[in-house]
Amino acid sequence: MALRVGVIGGGQLARMMVPAAIELGIDIRVLAEGPDMSASIAATAEGDYHDTATVLAFAETVDVVTFDHEHVPQHVLRALVEAGVQVHPGPDALAVAQDKIVMRTRLAELGLPVPDWAAVRDADELQQFLDAHGGRVVVKTARGGYDGKGVRVVDSPDQVEDWFIALAELGADATRSADTARSADTGDALLAEELVSFTRELAQSVARRPSGEIVAWPVVESVQADGVCAEVIAPAPGSAGRVADMAESIAVRVAEELGVTGVLAVELFQTDDERILINELAMRPHNTGHWSIDGATTSQFEQHLRAVLDLPLGATGMHDEVSVMINVLGGPSDGDLAARYPAALAEFPDAKFHFYGKAPRPGRKVGHVTVTGDDVEDVVFRARAAAAHFDD
Ligand code: ADP
Repeated sequence: MALRVGVIGGGQLARMMVPAAIELGIDIRVLAEGPDMSASIAATAEGDYHDTATVLAFAETVDVVTFDHEHVPQHVLRALVEAGVQVHPGPDALAVAQDKIVMRTRLAELGLPVPDWAAVRDADELQQFLDAHGGRVVVKTARGGYDGKGVRVVDSPDQVEDWFIALAELGADATRSADTARSADTGDALLAEELVSFTRELAQSVARRPSGEIVAWPVVESVQADGVCAEVIAPAPGSAGRVADMAESIAVRVAEELGVTGVLAVELFQTDDERILINELAMRPHNTGHWSIDGATTSQFEQHLRAVLDLPLGATGMHDEVSVMINVLGGPSDGDLAARYPAALAEFPDAKFHFYGKAPRPGRKVGHVTVTGDDVEDVVFRARAAAAHFDD
């Protein structure tokens, strides 16, 4: 009988697991949030992942449950585990990815390198942090942010007044306390961080099986535009040796200490004084690993399926020297992606085009393009030019 993997969430990450599942003969099933999701092609159920009964019923149809995102509430995850469902990554690991204050707290406890940070509950505490960090810092909502939406650079507490007000309202709502993974002393707070003067952003992906085997892909450079990943270069130029070793050892340590199963992506800052600091953790395939579909022996999507099923992991070597992925953000303003195919595919027959079945909308990740080759400048140029066919 085929191994059955259930994915909660119908976004593009679930969608990109589907071809890998088909190749391996894995029966992949998706619990989608509704119709017309990116992964609806493999949806066997539709429903609300906040609802325990819905998720439990879906879990009964599969051998292991995994995720397209980290937002499934802890009480739902715990109910799955109590019902004997295999859940990868598990609730304890996911708790660290679900809340940036919990994440900073755990990473600091482990002695891993992170920016200076504090949990700030009000304007006075934020002002103190500003005073101690040069008057300009980064403030983040602990939960619910993505693609830079919960991140602001501020020089005054007024600039996050709306977030403090929202937190106070949330604090008044007693129901949320059942689901918080935070210790009582941090309460409802925002995360304040030093504004890191980084030379570039890196990302290190690893995959870990429940039985412990762990593998790493090459560290990559990621270029953000307005807080959204725009480009990824694999491997990160000039990273061979010290930078690659540090990035890998950080990600391996995070995966092992937190007991992460499946793919883990660690977003990193490389600083001008040559330190590597952890920015973010994602416990699932990640945008910075999309290049691996076309550029590595084993893609992050195949590897995630292998890992959550506790199957031996695949090799992570690259087909070529360099692999560059460019996100298609927004897409053409006339909304017609397909109209751009003939010219794009004709001009770049060696580019690999991936689209997610999502309607174009400003800033939305609707697809990506990967080009591989030997010379980084040439590959970057061709990947950008191929992706540009889908802009206006
Ligand atoms: P999200 O969870 O929304 O992706 P991140 O915490 O990854 O948010 O931050 C988004 C981007 O904001 C990062 O990729 C980086 O460019 C910038 N950023 C985040 N934290 C800092 C920091 N402490 N110092 C400087 N830049 C930061």
